[in-house]
Amino acid sequence: MTSEVQGVVAMAKGEPVSLVTIVVPDPGPGEVVVRIQACGVCHTDLHYREGGINDEFPFLLGHEAAGIVETIGPDVTSVEPDDFVVLNWRAVCGECRACRRGRPWYCFATHNASQKMTLTDGTPLAAALGIGAFAEKTLVAAGQCTKVDPRARPEAVGLLGCGVMAGLGSAMLTGEVGAGDSVAVFGCGGVGCAAIAGARLAGATKIIAIDLDARKLDRAREFGATDVVNGSSEDVVAAVRVLTDGNGADVCIEAVGSPKAMEQAFYARDLACTLVQVGVPMPDMRIDLPMIDFFGRGGQLKPSWYGDCLPSRDFPMLVDLYLQGRLDLDRFVTETIGLGDVEEAFHRMERGEVLRSVVVI
Ligand SMILES: [Zn+2]
Ligand SMILES: [Zn+2]
Repeated sequence: MTSEVQGVVAMAKGEPVSLVTIVVPDPGPGEVVVRIQACGVCHTDLHYREGGINDEFPFLLGHEAAGIVETIGPDVTSVEPDDFVVLNWRAVCGECRACRRGRPWYCFATHNASQKMTLTDGTPLAAALGIGAFAEKTLVAAGQCTKVDPRARPEAVGLLGCGVMAGLGSAMLTGEVGAGDSVAVFGCGGVGCAAIAGARLAGATKIIAIDLDARKLDRAREFGATDVVNGSSEDVVAAVRVLTDGNGADVCIEAVGSPKAMEQAFYARDLACTLVQVGVPMPDMRIDLPMIDFFGRGGQLKPSWYGDCLPSRDFPMLVDLYLQGRLDLDRFVTETIGLGDVEEAFHRMERGEVLRSVVVI
């Protein structure tokens, strides 16, 4: 018995999204149907709608979600009906070369559901990041469900499913920020603010937030920035040096996806220190650096995919920190909206008015 539910679909490139009836199959082997409670609106959903990811329209959007397991496929043992889960888009395979080398967060063959959800006329839907959670129910691979403490608020912890995890992990996992470190975060949107929160959790004593927008810098302070630099009026690299006793930061995190911010982050590091790039660039962007500076400054340049997280290990831990009051995930939720409000939420996101709009179902 398939289910017919409402879902937010991008039918064609650049066109406003529409709320339509979709068909969710019963879970097959390795699959789970999740009743979605909350799902954040992320830039990646907008990239799908703009045709920036690929051309496999129609897309079922939404991927930063929490919900309740409704039904499980015949062989699923990792979750059971009524479990409260956060969804992830990196369900590791356990068998690829990265997994076998003990680095499953780099898994090259992550799992999604094998069956497709469809429109009522049978047209298959491509689920955003293999999730598709702007819907009352969605079909995912069992490994995409991580069971967490059910006392957590779905609209807050669902955000761990993408951008907030990417930011936290860029500091805590990829950047390996430690107690007493200085950290500079370039770009204070959702990912950048999460990087600031992660740096604070990891014990950084100096956390410098950099942005071109004064409103975002105010927000960055709320997440734990100790100092702010407005790049529209200040020399960013010089300012970071002044704030770090003339040295540069131990870890610079580029959370914009812009060549300019990347270059600033590269030079704002102290010698032999770390640059993490977590902002998603556009395909045509290039960086041009003197090789002698790359060599001469030493250290590490590390891209951070999904914060190098391992959902099964990291989501329950971060939810516990949230419930203990040590990680303020509620602060990322600017507003809660309905399934019919996603298009308008895209516009507010583009105008920089919200950290996260979260659809609550
Ligand atoms: Zn793997
Ligand atoms: Zn996302």
